[in-house]
Amino acid sequence: MRKSALWLLLAVPFVAASCGDKKQDAKSDYKAFDVSSLDTTVNPGDDFFGFVNNKWIAAHPIPADKGKYGAFYMLDDNSLSMLRNTLESASKAKAQKGTNTQKVGDFWVTGMDTVAIEKAGITPIKPYLDNIQAIQSSDDLMRTAAQMHRMYTFAMFMNWVGQDDKNSADVIMSMWQGGLGLPDREYYFLPDARMQQIRTDYIAHVKNVFMLLGADEATAQKNASTIMNIEMQMAKASMTNTDMRVPENIYHKMSVADFQKMTPNMNWSVYFGELKTPEFKTGINVAQPEFFKTMNGLMKSVPLDDWKVYLTYHFVDGTSEFLNDAFVMEHFDFHSKKLNGIEQIKPRWKRVVETADFCIGEALGEEYVKQAFSPEAKKRADEMVANIKTAMGVRINQLDWMSDSTKMQAIKKLNSFTVKIGYPDKWRDYSALEIDRSAYVLNVIHAVEFEAKRNYDKIGKPVDKTEWGMTPQTVNAYYNPSNNEIVFPAAILQAPFFDAQADDALNYGGIGAVIGHEITHGFDDQGRQYDAKGNLNMWWTPEDNEKFMTRANVVVTQFNSYCPLDSLCINGQLTLGENIADFGGLTIAYEAYKMTDEYKAGKTIDGITPQQRFFLGFGRIWAGSYREDAMRAQLLTNPHSPGEWRVNGTVVNMPEWYDAWGIKEDAAMYLAPESRAKIW
Ligand SMILES: [Zn+2]
Repeated sequence: MRKSALWLLLAVPFVAASCGDKKQDAKSDYKAFDVSSLDTTVNPGDDFFGFVNNKWIAAHPIPADKGKYGAFYMLDDNSLSMLRNTLESASKAKAQKGTNTQKVGDFWVTGMDTVAIEKAGITPIKPYLDNIQAIQSSDDLMRTAAQMHRMYTFAMFMNWVGQDDKNSADVIMSMWQGGLGLPDREYYFLPDARMQQIRTDYIAHVKNVFMLLGADEATAQKNASTIMNIEMQMAKASMTNTDMRVPENIYHKMSVADFQKMTPNMNWSVYFGELKTPEFKTGINVAQPEFFKTMNGLMKSVPLDDWKVYLTYHFVDGTSEFLNDAFVMEHFDFHSKKLNGIEQIKPRWKRVVETADFCIGEALGEEYVKQAFSPEAKKRADEMVANIKTAMGVRINQLDWMSDSTKMQAIKKLNSFTVKIGYPDKWRDYSALEIDRSAYVLNVIHAVEFEAKRNYDKIGKPVDKTEWGMTPQTVNAYYNPSNNEIVFPAAILQAPFFDAQADDALNYGGIGAVIGHEITHGFDDQGRQYDAKGNLNMWWTPEDNEKFMTRANVVVTQFNSYCPLDSLCINGQLTLGENIADFGGLTIAYEAYKMTDEYKAGKTIDGITPQQRFFLGFGRIWAGSYREDAMRAQLLTNPHSPGEWRVNGTVVNMPEWYDAWGIKEDAAMYLAPESRAKIW
């Protein structure tokens, strides 16, 4: 739930597979695209996604331990096995104390030792719970909140360290709304039956957690209502995720003294003192002032005993997955089963690998890169990025709706993009992190505390531009507006995105569309508000700004009309940036593909033209399906449209797609040229 500065290809990063060793495929009959995988009972112009992916989806039902599944979620399983090997061999290596190998190995050992975990029960976290019980004043409450925030357990509200939106050279603290137990504010208010059920389930879950902690049923029930009551008030004061898309809406820089005046019941010197943050030389950003004003009121209106109940639940919920089985299963039952429709918990080893990846991922990344990253892939990706950047420049210069002065600024921004591919030049230094064999949950807490401290310590220091926001084993990519950089971890450079043996059409439609997507984030509804230096600074003329908004609104309306569930449609405003990035990204990838020799040669493969193969390459990266609850969660909280609409909602705006497949007025997806979106 933490605000991320990085605009991702997917919302939830996950780890990936080996991409190095594809030798087994190097046979003469190797086909980078198998034409028999197409569902020829569907007309490409009626449902392009179905035409490309129906057969894949039928052959790949969603596994019981997942809420959604897709072609590149599959990469996950291979890679988890690979990381498991790294962890296991580290645990047997008898490594010297203090080395990454020792830490990684001990993390694994404690995570897999279910006997010790069962025996310990909640003993390891008992001191933290006692600490909450000892709260006697509102200053104590602020101090305890800070202690939890140092462990990234964001009860009451959140904080976040990042570059100042208006001065990207300065790293500052932002104060954020947060502290809700349900995934988003809308979960507290939507009136439909499913949402009412989720609220009932949430209260039952909180009650169960207190009973596991030893409370009697009546007390547990009362505690659950107390928490729901507090969170309802916090949710009401929370900004919607759509409003938060406007950078100016969440930028309110002020001194701590002014923040203190705004919220007199919250003692910030106690809070920041306990958080142990460096001095705030230039102030802080209070992202949602209205939320903090409400919190200020709740500090007085909610009794301290109720706050203790609230903090206890959030601390235990945050650590449940690393405690004994009863807590693990209670956490799974609500967060995975009830909220996302997942039937079965993942095997223990997978959960531990994922936790290790989350906690100490860069310590695993070094080994991953050695085993899985091919210099060949990097070279090809470098070339493609260069070509796609060139194509973006061509497109910008050709735009018939943009003035020359705005074009000049856009080109300036494009030329100053930083590109990172593969893995960081400098690996994270974990030497100050203590990991041992005493308790799994404490290893997790210590790792998260280490990460939090690492971030807090950045305040007031120069920006480290070599840092990565993702591990190399993550199948994802991002754009960071403050650094104006696009980043592609090693793990995304594998099929279905990238295949060294495939024709350019498939690679430009795959990884090319991903590269184009990240570049276009620098020019989507949010990214275009940042300049070449990464500062929030309007470089558009007012007329061009108006024209962009009009064009973007076509995309909003288009996606608002897609309704994956009876009761719920895509939120065109929430998903606007991603939809623009998909559309712009595919457009410039195509433009770059047109410059290749292969495109010019026009050779048909298996009866499919190069133009068609480009769109097939794009369509198949989103092969996949959702459980109903997972779809609901995605539509309410995720800025990405579900895969089916990422494909159909994108190609339907592209004249090149109509030409490639000969789509005419009678096709179900047909949009008249004047109704199509046209931006980049
Ligand atoms: Zn994106």
